[in-house]
Amino acid sequence: MERVYNFSAGPSVIAESVLKKAQAELVNYGDAGMSVMEMSHRSPVYQAIIDETEALLREVLSIPDDYAVLFLQGGASSQFAMIPLNLANGSGAIDLVLTGQWASKANQEASKYCQVNIVGSSKDKTFSYIPKLDKSKFNPDADYFYICSNNTIYGTRFATLPECGNVPLVADMSSCILSEKIDVTKYGLIFAGAQKNMGPAGLTVVIIRKDLIGKARDITPTMFNYEIHANNGSMYNTPPTFAIYMCKLVLEWLKNEIGGIEAMEEINHKKAAIMYDYLDSSKVFKPTVSGADRSYMNIPFITGNEDLDKAFVKAAAAAGFVNLKGHRSVGGMRASIYNAMPVEGVEKLVKFMKDYEVSL
Ligand SMILES: *Cc1c(COP(=O)(O)O)cnc(C)c1O
Repeated sequence: MERVYNFSAGPSVIAESVLKKAQAELVNYGDAGMSVMEMSHRSPVYQAIIDETEALLREVLSIPDDYAVLFLQGGASSQFAMIPLNLANGSGAIDLVLTGQWASKANQEASKYCQVNIVGSSKDKTFSYIPKLDKSKFNPDADYFYICSNNTIYGTRFATLPECGNVPLVADMSSCILSEKIDVTKYGLIFAGAQKNMGPAGLTVVIIRKDLIGKARDITPTMFNYEIHANNGSMYNTPPTFAIYMCKLVLEWLKNEIGGIEAMEEINHKKAAIMYDYLDSSKVFKPTVSGADRSYMNIPFITGNEDLDKAFVKAAAAAGFVNLKGHRSVGGMRASIYNAMPVEGVEKLVKFMKDYEVSL
């Protein structure tokens, strides 16, 4: 069978050239005589891999020296606890914007460890927009201000960042990291599960301003303490060695084949425009998000008729466009068009949708 166009929300598409490189190096990496999977994380050859991965990430995202990069496990979801355990150690209160399921989970988890002040919510309309924020509701003494930058399920994104002053901004970028240029200095902490834009599942990347490290509460489990991981070069215990190696290949692809983060952003804008332009003109398929809040990565759409949605998802899969079923809380469809989805894949999907529309 040929490779399909995979619109999965995560784990998601990885560039074919990355997979082929991994395949070529799978059994015997360089002249190591073994696979990356088999080697000690303490070996010089593996140290070179993790060092190179970090150097590439720093280069691609322009991460300043006063930020640490940590390669962790436990998924983005573990960060929902790890962040308050490490950062909510001043006033014990944080600000949070409720923009979807992942922000809700972060809220629930943080509420076990600190007081969460919800400064904005879009729950009233199934999280189909980013709420306008009233700065007077922000707590100037908050230990941090939490957002989910791109809402994977609902297809919204923060186009502008909240003005939270000196309060460190913490952002879940699981589904948008590496998709566009960002100013890292605007954030106290950025985190992402790797399985959307960075590689396979099993790796979680944390980018944290160094002055925020070393403030963990006494009860914090060792493995949940940023300081432990920072002081040990992400090797306090065995890191997710193969996932980090795959992340290195993805970063090499982004830098060398795509041409860096600006080129990536341009391609992503082009792909999203192709989808939204069609959805805005279609008489059958309707986008669920409008205006400036639209995500460049996850594009939900509906027909308004559940049977038709189902029939479409089935027909699309048969034609090689897979994983288009929407999240159950939104229904309909969702096209996740992460970095590794080529422009051609989006063009072909839109062509398929146009033909489908005509055939009805
Ligand atoms: C996928 C996703 C998560 C959950 O990631 P896990 O690694 O499965 O814990 C959290 N936040 C966002 C925005 C996501 O897209």
